[in-house]
Amino acid sequence: MRLVNGKITPMKKYQTIVIGSGPGGYVAAIRLAQLGKSVAIVERFQDHVGGVCLNEGCIPTKALINSAKFFDSAKEAEISAVELKAGIPDMAKMVSAALNTSAQLRNGIKYLFKKNNIDLIVGNARIASKNSLIVTNNGKDDEFLADNFIIATGSRPKVLASLEADEKNVLTSDGVFKLKQTPKALLIIGGGAIGVEFGSLFNSFGSNVTIVELEEQLLPLEDKEIAIEMTKYLKKRGIEIFTKSQVLELQRKPNSRIAKIKTNNETIEKEFEYVLVCVGRSPNTENLGLEKIGLTLEKGFIKVNEKMQTSVDNIYAIGDCINSPMLAHVASVEGILAAEIIAGLKSEPIDYSSIPSVVYSQFEAASVGLTEELAREKGLDVVICKHFFKSCPKALLLHKDDGFVKIIADKKTFKIIGVHIAGIGASELIHEFVLAKANNLRLQDIAKTTHAHPSLSEIVVDAAKSVFDKPIHG
Ligand code: FAD
Repeated sequence: MRLVNGKITPMKKYQTIVIGSGPGGYVAAIRLAQLGKSVAIVERFQDHVGGVCLNEGCIPTKALINSAKFFDSAKEAEISAVELKAGIPDMAKMVSAALNTSAQLRNGIKYLFKKNNIDLIVGNARIASKNSLIVTNNGKDDEFLADNFIIATGSRPKVLASLEADEKNVLTSDGVFKLKQTPKALLIIGGGAIGVEFGSLFNSFGSNVTIVELEEQLLPLEDKEIAIEMTKYLKKRGIEIFTKSQVLELQRKPNSRIAKIKTNNETIEKEFEYVLVCVGRSPNTENLGLEKIGLTLEKGFIKVNEKMQTSVDNIYAIGDCINSPMLAHVASVEGILAAEIIAGLKSEPIDYSSIPSVVYSQFEAASVGLTEELAREKGLDVVICKHFFKSCPKALLLHKDDGFVKIIADKKTFKIIGVHIAGIGASELIHEFVLAKANNLRLQDIAKTTHAHPSLSEIVVDAAKSVFDKPIHG
């Protein structure tokens, strides 16, 4: 019992309360409910189930990329002897269409909550003690009790104080969804996956795009050859790219910014209508009461063991707020694992080496496992093969035959150490290699399966075969 507005109110108790309704939190909640647990999920924002992924991340960006593809198709149709007119991109309408897709998916998740008897509590949560949680909404506090908590509070765009992201002319990824027009000149600071995806889609909308990346290569986490291939493609489309470069200063003008960019060999000044800051994300771990209950943090991330358990044994953490790859599908598998451990199942730890990652630009890149650089650093005995899309009939008939599949395999067993794809369909093709890697299959196991003709997936067979034998095409 507790006193609320002068009245005695019973405190509601659940077996588990999940904090945050992103792809980590909502998936964990559903899994817990499936396993018979009573569950509530707390989300601080109204109409924000699905978290960053669904509302400002994966989904609306890919919907915009889909819009961008129509503009590309109009330009490319000529190669297939078709005349199409692209028209003028209407940013406000395209953003609205993208956000409609998000709304549709949000409703789907809310339906799943109802179906699984999961209570959705709106408000800002903070942990008061090992078993109690305070949720604040409109200045009113409510307390809830639980045997277990799962923290799935996600992350937010990292902002550099010197760049003053005001969401007017200097945007974070969140600000893109407030744009009413396509930028004429856009500077993207940070050439990771998010920066490259935005660069590629605004280029399709007709913006003059410049990307500045601090590291030696674009997509610093990807295999070097993939990064080179992506750079080549983006440059061919007219995107200006500076690597090993830094934006030193943004000089404010009424409707633009003048950027001082220190490149490899000189310092230049250039005016941009908009600047988009894509320099990474910070975990949401502040103001959650974590220090008070003695929960261990490392560099701002919540520390967990391989069961997703924090230093406080009944509290688990998953997704972007822990130090694992900041990807929606990673958050979801971590959510499932945490839920299953809480429910007493003996589920296996996550095999992070078999997690795919994808760059969804117009020209896609996808990977699983180690890069060549990391495999060599580890001194592994590897065989490396590249197989080109030019040898794939389907890629050729679609006039999208740039790029390759690169396989790094163990020299003796022909088991996958890493696969990196740059080219059409990479986001789908990678999963055949993920399946093989996660199940310890050999490349021969892939190569002996029959793939339909003509399909892009034929390249998977030929690429696998090229490692231990001769492919038919190539
Ligand atoms: P989040 O999705 O961040 O959700 C956390 C939720 O917790 C939020 O709704 C937040 O409001 C809520 N919350 C926070 N604090 C509290 C509190 N105290 N009380 C109550 N609620 C709280 N990943 C991919 O895998 N593929 C992609 O294509 C992809 N594209 C992306 C594109 C962009 C532009 C961005 C920004 C990200 C992208 N990501 C992508 C990353 C992906 O969005 C994140 O990895 C994923 O959303 C993390 O999920 P999560 O559940 O950990 O947290």
